[in-house]
Formats: sequence, C-alpha cells, structure tokens
Amino acid sequence: MPDRVESESRKLLERLRLALAEGGEGQERLDNIVELIATSMQTEVCSIYLFRDNETLELCATQGLAMESVHKTRLRLGEGLVGRVARTRRVINAADAPSARGFRYMPETGEERYSSFCGVPIQRLGDALGVLVVQSKDAREFTADEVYALEVVAMVLAEMTELGAFVGEGAALSARHQNPVLFRGTVAQEGAAEGNVFLHEARVVVTNPISDDPDLELVRLRDAVEELRSSVDALLSGSRQMTTDQLEIFEAYRMFANSRSWMRRMEADIVNGLTAEAAVEKEQSLARTRLNQAGDAYMRERLNDLDDLSNRLLRILTGQGKDTGVDMPDNPILIARNIGPGELLDYGKKLRGIVLEEGSVGSHATVVARAWAIPLIINAKGITTEALNGDPILVDGDHGIAHLRPDEAVHSAFRDKLAMQTRAQERYASIRDEPALTKCGTELSLFMNAGLLADLPSLEGSGAKGVGLFRTELQFLIRTQMPKRQELSALYARVINAAGGKPVAFRTLDIGSDKVLPYMKPNDEPNPAMGWRAIRVGLDKPGILRMQLQALVRAANGGPLTVMFPFVTLLSEYRDAKAELDKVLAREKRLGNPLPTPLHVGAMLETPSLAFAPDAFFKEVDFISVGGNDLKQFFYAADRENERVRKRYDTLSHSFLTFLKMVIKRCDDAGTHLSFCGEDAGRPLEAVCFAACGFRSLSMRPASVGPVKHLLRKVDLNDVRAVMDAAWERGDLSVRDAVSTYLKSCV
Ligand code: PEP
Ligand code: MG
Repeated sequence: MPDRVESESRKLLERLRLALAEGGEGQERLDNIVELIATSMQTEVCSIYLFRDNETLELCATQGLAMESVHKTRLRLGEGLVGRVARTRRVINAADAPSARGFRYMPETGEERYSSFCGVPIQRLGDALGVLVVQSKDAREFTADEVYALEVVAMVLAEMTELGAFVGEGAALSARHQNPVLFRGTVAQEGAAEGNVFLHEARVVVTNPISDDPDLELVRLRDAVEELRSSVDALLSGSRQMTTDQLEIFEAYRMFANSRSWMRRMEADIVNGLTAEAAVEKEQSLARTRLNQAGDAYMRERLNDLDDLSNRLLRILTGQGKDTGVDMPDNPILIARNIGPGELLDYGKKLRGIVLEEGSVGSHATVVARAWAIPLIINAKGITTEALNGDPILVDGDHGIAHLRPDEAVHSAFRDKLAMQTRAQERYASIRDEPALTKCGTELSLFMNAGLLADLPSLEGSGAKGVGLFRTELQFLIRTQMPKRQELSALYARVINAAGGKPVAFRTLDIGSDKVLPYMKPNDEPNPAMGWRAIRVGLDKPGILRMQLQALVRAANGGPLTVMFPFVTLLSEYRDAKAELDKVLAREKRLGNPLPTPLHVGAMLETPSLAFAPDAFFKEVDFISVGGNDLKQFFYAADRENERVRKRYDTLSHSFLTFLKMVIKRCDDAGTHLSFCGEDAGRPLEAVCFAACGFRSLSMRPASVGPVKHLLRKVDLNDVRAVMDAAWERGDLSVRDAVSTYLKSCV
C-alpha cells in the first residue's frame, strides 16, 4: 500500500474520528461525514444510504445531490446501482454509471450529471446496513486504494450505525435493535412461547473503531493473535483420541490461526487507521459475506473456521468473554447460530423457546428440544445479529415465526393464542386419567416417546400408558467416550424405576446416518440414511450390541423388559439380532443373574421391505412398531430432513394408508401386537386416521398425548371410516381434507 494513500486513508479516519467525537445529533453527524469524505476524496458527491427496513434503502445524507431528496429518495433492495451494492454486498466501481447495468435515474437527486460511481456496502458481520457512495463528473474509475479507503470508512460507519450514532432528532432514522423485526424460519418443535432474548454467545461490541496510534494497535493485534495461537495449540494437544479426520480438521483450523495473509490484511487495516478489533471485524465481515455466497462445502467449512477464530480473537481483544456475566432473563428464549445437544442439556428445561440461525429438524439439539417440548425454530437467518440480550420476543413454533421486539398489536394477538393454549392444556389435564376411548367404544393405548431420564416425569403429567419408544442413542451421543456397561445398566435401571411399573420399550442403538458418535470414526457415506446405521452397525459390531443388551437385562433385574431393534429390513436381520440377545441371556443365566420376565422382543418397521417379509417374521416377533419417520422417507423416496421434498408427500394419501392397512392386516393375521411411533402419531388428525385404519397403540411426544386423546374421545371411528371411504370413492388422493372437515363438526 503506497504511503500517500495510507496517510490519506488515515487522515480521513482521523477527521472522521474528530467529527464523531464532536457529538451533535445523528443527522448532523451524517451530514458532517458526507461532507468530509467528499472533500477528502475530491468527489462532487458523497451519499449515505441506510436501510429503513429489510427491503428499503433511504438516502440519509448527501453532499452534492439535491438536499430535498434526503429522507425522500428510497430504493428497494436490488434496485439501481445502490440497491445492487446492498444486495450483492459487492463494490460497484463504474466510470460511466448511466450506462452500467441496473442504473436507475432518480430525477429528484439531479444525479444524471455525474458520470463515475463507486458504491461500497456498509455491513457488519455479514449484516447489510447500507451503502456509501461517491460520484464525480469526470468519467474515471476509482483506484483500488481509493476503494479500499472507502471500505475502511464504511466499516467505521457500520460500527457507528450499530452503536446508534446516527439516531436522533431530525435524522428520521430509528435506532438499530429497537424496531420490531419478524423472522421466518422452519418449524422444528411446535408450541408458542413469550419471553426475553438470551444470547448463547453474547455479541462482541466494538466501541472504538478508529485509532490514532497504529503502532500500539499492531502490538495489541500481535499479542492477541499470539494468545489465540497458543489457545488453539492447547485445544489440539488437549484433545485425546482424535481420529485422523478430526486431526486434519483441527490442523486446518490451526493453519488458519497461523495464516500470514489473514494477518497481513488485518495489519494493513490498522495501518490505515482502524483499531485492532475493528480490523478483525472488517476481515470477519468480508469472510461472512463470502460464506453466505460460497456454494462449495469445503470452502464454507474453512470460512466457518475463520469466523470462529475471528470471534475468539475479538473476545481476547475486547475482554468480552463467552461468559459475559449476563444473567439469564426471566422466561429465557435462547438465540444462537447453532447449538449442540450437550450445551442445550446444560441450560436445562428453564428455556421457554429456542431460535437458531442454522440447525436441522433431525439434529440432536432438536431431539432434545422436542423431548422437552420447548418450541424451536431453525433457519431463522440474521437473528443473532439483530437480537440483544433481554429483548422481548415471541416464538410461534407452529408457524416457524419469531417476533423480535413485537409491537402491541402482535403482542396482544399472541397473548390470545397463548391463552387458548393454556385453556387447551387445562382441558387435556382434566382428561389425563381418562382412557383414550372413542365414541364407538374403541380404546387406544397412548404411549410417549423418550430419550433421556429427564423425560420420564412427563409420563405422569401426560397420562401416557408407558414409554413406547425409548431412543437409547441420545445417551451415547452426548458423551465424549463410549459409555461403560455398568453406567448404562444403572441408567436403564433408573429409567425403569422412574416409569414406576409402566412399560418402557427400549430401542437398541440407532446410530449412523446423521447420528454420528463423537468417539466413532465417521463413515463418509454418500447416502448415510440408507447406509451403515442402526441394526446394521449392531450386527457388524456385535460387541456394542451385546454390551447394551447386557446392560438392559441387568437393569431389568428379573422384572419385565421390552427391547426393540431399529431399522430391521429382513427377517434374517431380526433373527441375527435376537440370536445376540439369546447369547446374552444364556451368559447371564450362567452367571446366575436373574433373567427378565416377561421379556418382549420386537422390531421397528422402518423400511417398506419388512412389510413384505415372510409370515414367519410376523409370527416370530412379539411386536412390531412402525417407525413412520423413516418408513415415510423410504416409502416416498423423500429425505425426511429435506424441507423441499418432505412436504410434497402426505401421510394420509391413499398409497401410504393402503400400505399401513396391509401391515395392520398381516399383524392381525399373525396375532402380533402393532404400534406406530413416528412423529405422525402425535398429530391429532393423523392419529384419528390411524385409529380408523386399525392401529390400537400409538407412541408420541409427551405434549401430544393430551391433544390426541382429546380428539379421539370425540370421534366415532365408524364415521371416520365412512368419510375416508367416500373420499377414496370420489377419487381424492388424500383423506386429509375430508377427515379434517368431519373433525371440525365433532369438536
Ligand atoms: C422413526 O423413524 O419413525 C422413528 C421413530 O425413529 P427415529 O425418528 O429415531 O429415526
Ligand atoms: Mg427411525
């Protein structure tokens, strides 16, 4: 970087610092800034456009354009050159702006007189805040150094905007983080919650972006980077038993921490007038923008590493640690980019709701949130940059919407919804001890799904008859080492004990697919959901399966035990798994340990092929449990986690219900007990249709037991069947609409 430009940029920042230090109202500051940029850069025009809302940019200050257009000229995101800079987050540097793609003539500003245009995004950590523009009459392209100087200034403007420096009388700009904002994400757990923001990782605030002592800032940066490097080294040497793949990942991370080019860019930013933390943030912002645009998975991972390292570095520089001492507010709603199941378990059930920027419906954190019935929204882009600790927030988990800092109208509509929910809860509580008996006299058995000891109290509260599916893998997933047999056995004994005599169906480990144990070498499989998972792993690594079965047998301690094997596809797989159990039983007998009595052994039907197994299969198993989540994805060849395809296929379609009826018939013919334990069992409409088809046992999330029972008690299954038959005869492809209309007449 040539000295002249270095000093120009520094001089510009120094003037900016003085202008900002003078105080004054927000508008005055903006006016001063555009004037001094135009003077310093010798351009006729300098303008600042800021976002009024997510879609609209407003001209907030100008030197050179018509003053009357300030706060009047507005552009949509993507409109004109300014809108394009904001949308793409990329610099536009055009010598002949009127002929550049996307140019939009704005007569009120008088801008047609200006030929050259340079617009740079004002952004903070990937969050677009506005656009800084310079224009001049002569047709010239701005030099790389001039563009760089503008970027540095834009970075400072972003920090100042964030800190609310441009708010005030006459500025017609409302402060950041004060307006109501609505976030749309994906539903991961239904339910509504009202509370206050609790940030998983507190925002680091940079209050001093401009420095007048680059040497001091360089020393601060180098010291901080040194500290960062040693902490990364410590992380690496402290992580025992890493697989080669994990080591490679960590090495890549370390490589970044030692990256010369990263360091050089930050040093150049400091030499040009930024403080160390502002320099880190400037590079982080650029990386975030690239991250949002990168399609390549490897590239995204590397940029994620850089983002993570930048956060660590900022914390070192600002002294704002992860634990900021912020107390959890009342009714905390957790906001995070993403969160692991272990961290979520640490927070416990205090959380009222969770909103994540990333996450997936099948992630372990989601499993935990669902088990606890905490409303969870995922893919709520931008919420971590917008929300501040303590902000009021409403989580509408049924529609995947979060209202941050809601206005009164939204608030009161939401309260009505909550009140309705409370009334419904009271209704469900009043029938907790009543049977799920339909009007036609058919009784269903409603069970709950669980995966943690902490879920067991819900057995009492929900009125479920027992645990129809205990997902044992969660205990394996939240640890850093393979649990020991004694530990597992003690845990299962506590689960059995907590169930207080109600039955618990333990499903053996369903690992593989998306559920990768941290201490097992991950398999790079092209289609993990159809790969080496569940009972396939159990049969290939019988040591783990036997250890788990032994722990279960010992936990039962001579009492009842129900075991089911997941993802059985063939009769032979069931037989092989059962043979492992027989071996375990024989060994326990030899050791003189009591054997479980009665012992029920079953299989989960999660692949269509098992429905066509020989009759012998239906006779040999004690029971079958339909794992509808997996079954549906394989029946329709539609990934259960892929929102795009998942929703195309209806559980209540003719084809799927016909298939289920065939399974019911085969079980009836063989006298085999059958239940349904996928998510659909917990949806009242679906549950009623399953009952009409012949299911008599359903297992669901604890929170669903009340609503499902409430509806079942209102219906006559003969009527439901008649409605379904009529729908088929009409040629409806799904009975959803017909049954839903009928149900409205029942409640
Ligand atoms: C299922 O597939 O329906 C099921 C209950 O198992 P999981 O959701 O744990 O795969
Ligand atoms: Mg499954």
